[in-house]
Amino acid sequence: MNNVLTLAHELGHAFHNHAMKPVNGLNKQYPLSIAETASTFSEMIIVEAVVEEVVV
Ligand SMILES: [Zn+2]
Repeated sequence: MNNVLTLAHELGHAFHNHAMKPVNGLNKQYPLSIAETASTFSEMIIVEAVVEEVVV
């Protein structure tokens, strides 16, 4: 489960990086809290799916 969450986390970073592609120069800088938003959200999608599978 830990490895799956790590993959989901990194996928979230990849998505964020992809979404930032059209943003120009100086606007590409953001704090760690923003950087972790997409990756944490991605983890939560997996956690929610697992909980639903186990509980329901
Ligand atoms: Zn991260």
